[in-house]
Amino acid sequence: MDDFTVVLNAGSSSLKFCIYRRPETESWRLEARGQIEGIGTSPRFTAKDGAGGILADTGLEAVHDGRAGLDALADWLRSRYGGARVLGVGHRVVHGGAHYAAPVVVTQEVLNDLRALVPLAPLHQPYNLAAIDAVSARLPGVPQVACFDTSFHRGQPAVAEVIPLPKDIRSAGVQRYGFHGLSYEYIASVLPQVAPEIAAGRVIVAHLGSGASLCAMKNGKSMDSTLGFTALDGLCMGTRPGALDPGVVLYLFQNLGLSAKEVETILYKKSGLLGLSGTSNDMRDLLGSTEPGARLAVDYFVYRAAKEIGALAAVLGGIDGLVFTAGIGENAPEIRRRICHASAWLGVDLDDEANAGRGPRISRASSRVSAWVIPTNEELVIARHTGRLLGLIEARS
Ligand code: ADP
Repeated sequence: MDDFTVVLNAGSSSLKFCIYRRPETESWRLEARGQIEGIGTSPRFTAKDGAGGILADTGLEAVHDGRAGLDALADWLRSRYGGARVLGVGHRVVHGGAHYAAPVVVTQEVLNDLRALVPLAPLHQPYNLAAIDAVSARLPGVPQVACFDTSFHRGQPAVAEVIPLPKDIRSAGVQRYGFHGLSYEYIASVLPQVAPEIAAGRVIVAHLGSGASLCAMKNGKSMDSTLGFTALDGLCMGTRPGALDPGVVLYLFQNLGLSAKEVETILYKKSGLLGLSGTSNDMRDLLGSTEPGARLAVDYFVYRAAKEIGALAAVLGGIDGLVFTAGIGENAPEIRRRICHASAWLGVDLDDEANAGRGPRISRASSRVSAWVIPTNEELVIARHTGRLLGLIEARS
C-alpha cells in the first residue's frame, strides 16, 4: 500500500492542496495538485495529476465555508485513495511571528502561539489554523507540520526588521516580519541549478501574484523585503494598496468616521489594482483593457515595483540578478518588460525575444544584471519540510 503526505494551503476563499505519493521503493513524487476556489460564492473543485492530466473539474454546491471545503476534499481523497496511509500533513501558515524561524511539528503549545498571531494576519491566519484543526479532528494521530511565510526573513539585519515606534509598542511584537517566504525559499533553493552565476550574489526576487512583494537576497539569504508587519506594505497588490502614508489611515478614522472593520476591508479587499481600476484585481483583465482606470492601475503597479527595486538595490549595494515569479511574474511578459526597462539604469538589459519565450533567462548575454523567470513552488517546500521533520524521505517535484 502506498503512503502519502498532503500539503494544504487554506485561504479565505480557496483551499489549495498537493498530494505526494511514496511508492514502496521510490522516493516521493507529486501525485495530484488542485484547489477548491470560490468557497462561499461559487465553489469549484479542480485537480490535476503529476503530469498535468485533469482528474477533476466540477462545481460544488454545498461548500459555503472552509470546513465544508476540507470535508469535500477529504471525500474526494477517500474515494480516490481510500485505504491509503497519510503519513503527515504540511500546512502553509502565513505568520510565525518572531519566534518561529523554521517549520515546526504542530503541538497544542505551537497552536496556542499561532492563535496569538491572528490579529497580525486577520485575513489569512484563521483559515490556516482552521485547516490544522480540521485535520486533527478527521485524522487524529497523523502528525502535522506548520511552514511559515515569515521564517525565511528571520535573520535579517536589525535595521531591516525594526519599526521606529516607542519601545513598549515594539515590545508587543510590532516589527517587520516579511511574507512570501516559502516562495523565496524555493527560488533560493533552485538558483544554484537554474542561475548559478547569481546564486551566491545580490538578487532581487519579485513575487508578483495577487499578493506581491520583493525580497533582497544575498547568497540566498533574505536581507530585506517589501512586506512588513502585515501583508499590506510595499508593492501595489490585487486588492491591497501597498505602502501608504499612515496619515491616510488616521484620516479615514478621524475625518471620514470609518470603523476599524471598514478600514480593514478597504485596505485588504478594495484597494490596489481593484481600487485604481474600479473594475478588476486581475492583471489579465487590466492588460486587455484600454480604460483609463485600468491603464493607471498597470502604470502604478509597474511604477511601484521599479521604485522598490531601486530601494532594495540600495540595500544590497547594487544587484547581480532580478528574478520574476508567481502568477503575474511568471505569465505577464508585458509587466516584466516594463519593470525591466524601468530598471535599465541598474544594468538590466532585457532580451525581448527571450522574455516572450519560456525563459528562464530573459536578459541579453551582455546584460550586467541578468533577469530570470523562475516558476515558484511553495507546496514542494512545504512537502520537503514535512518529510524532513517527520523523518520521511525528501520530496521531489
Ligand atoms: P495567489 O497565489 O497570491 O492567489 P498567483 O501567484 O496565483 O496569486 O497570481 C494570481 C494573479 O496572477 C492573478 O490575479 C492574475 O492577475 C495574474 N495572472 C495569472 N496569469 C496571468 C497572465 N497570463 N497574464 C497576466 N497576469 C496573470
